[in-house]
Parts: sequence; structure tokens; C-alpha cells
Amino acid sequence: MKTANILGVTFDNVTLKDAVDAAMEQIRAGKKGYVVTPNPEIAYTALQDPVYRDIINRAALVLPDGIGIIYAARILGVPLSGRVPGIDFADALMYRMSQEGMRLFLLGAKPGIAEKAAENLKKKYPGLVIAGTRDGYFQEDQQALDAIHDVGGADVLFVCLGAPKQERFMAGHMEELPVTLSCGLGGSLDIFAGTVQRAPELFRRLNLEWLYRLLKQPSRIGRMMKLPLFLLIALKTKLFGGKKA
Ligand code: UDP
Repeated sequence: MKTANILGVTFDNVTLKDAVDAAMEQIRAGKKGYVVTPNPEIAYTALQDPVYRDIINRAALVLPDGIGIIYAARILGVPLSGRVPGIDFADALMYRMSQEGMRLFLLGAKPGIAEKAAENLKKKYPGLVIAGTRDGYFQEDQQALDAIHDVGGADVLFVCLGAPKQERFMAGHMEELPVTLSCGLGGSLDIFAGTVQRAPELFRRLNLEWLYRLLKQPSRIGRMMKLPLFLLIALKTKLFGGKKA
């Protein structure tokens, strides 16, 4: 499925439903792997760091999270049908997991957030088993691994530590993690806990979710400058050739 090469990151050209079907198949088959959801900020880091790029490209699923990725695809003439935001993927996956009584572990965010998210998610998806939670501010990775081992593992692990930490964690511990599928989902636990609001429908429809986040948290401006920078590099590559892979 990995057909869309955007400045060296190979995305899956899939719909949300395709992505969740593929994830469910992988979980049922017990095949270990991880899901990444690069936005332009992640893709820009990958462009500059070959080791990180390799981590991204080795993922079972590489989902285009931000509209900037779709714009870059258009500039480069690479077929990519649309965004698959990590948070939508997570919601759709939990719905399917709940129908089969699967186990989910929530890792990440500040102390108390994962527990609050767990409470909300249990109500939203009866049938989903929240195997355990652990905040994302551990000193040693082993502490997080122990927390997941202590509850007997899970089918799926949400890793919400922010990029690039979450991708490095998933790739670095894939074999020893007692879970089938890990998903790197940035700030999703804050949203599931209700402490951070997702952009209203209008912003989402206009593909302006990034603008809403910027208005709510102006301090993100530094991080967000990577979006136009990423598009400029795509444009330069298209016009003058250069590193596509
Ligand atoms: N975080 C964490 N451990 C860390 C650093 C960050 O658990 O060492 C959490 C942070 O509390 C937040 C998430 O990782 O919940 C990152 O959120 P951000 O908004 O940066 O991610 P995005 O959704 O933009 O990828």
C-alpha cells in the first residue's frame, strides 16, 4: 500500500476505513508493528534525519495526518487521496476493537490525563477493555515497559509522547513490547481526556485545523513554521528536481 513517496517518506494512500481494516487484520494475525501519522513537522524532521526517516518508513502504516502533506503530494504530483488524521484513526480503531472486546493500553501525556481519557473512552466504547494507563513523563523507558507488562500486555498500545519520541519508542521496543500494534498519536490523549479541544467542525472542513491550534497556542508558531518550509522544499524539488527518495 506504500505508494506515495513524499520527500522520502512513503505514505499509505488509503482511506480511513482501509487503514482501520489493515490495522485490524494485523492485530488479528498477531503480527507486531506500529502505526505513524506524520504531519509536515514530522516529515520535515524525517527529511533531515535519515535514521528517523527509516523508523517512519518501517511502520506498518504511514498515515498522512496534516493537510500540508496533501498539499505537498499535489505539488509533487504524487497520488494521495486525502488526510487520515491520527485522532480519527484512533477513534475508528477503538470502535472496531470494542466490538471484539480487545485490550488497549494508553501511554503518554501528563499525570492523570491517560486515566481521565480511559474513563471517557470506556463510556464511549463499551466493550473496549482499557488494560492500563501510564503517564508519559518516565525517566527510563523500562518504567513504561514494566507498566504494560504488569497488566499482562494488550492488543493495541497508544503511544502519545509527541514526535519524535513516540516513534523512537515504538520502533526501539517493538519486539519486547507485550502488544501487537502500537500507534503514535501525539496529543490525542489530551483530547480524549477533554483537557484540549479539537478544532470545531468548520475549521476541520476548511482544512484549517492547524490555524485553530495556532490561535489556541500561539507558542506553536516555531513548530508550525515547518509547514511552509516543507511545502517550499516540495516546490523546489518539483521545479528543480532533487531528493525525492
Ligand atoms: N508528552 C509526554 N512525554 C514527554 C513529552 C510530551 O507524554 O516527554 C506528551 C504531552 O503531554 C502531550 C503529547 O505528548 O500530551 C504531545 O502533544 P503535541 O501537541 O506536541 O503532539 P501533536 O499532537 O502536535 O503531535
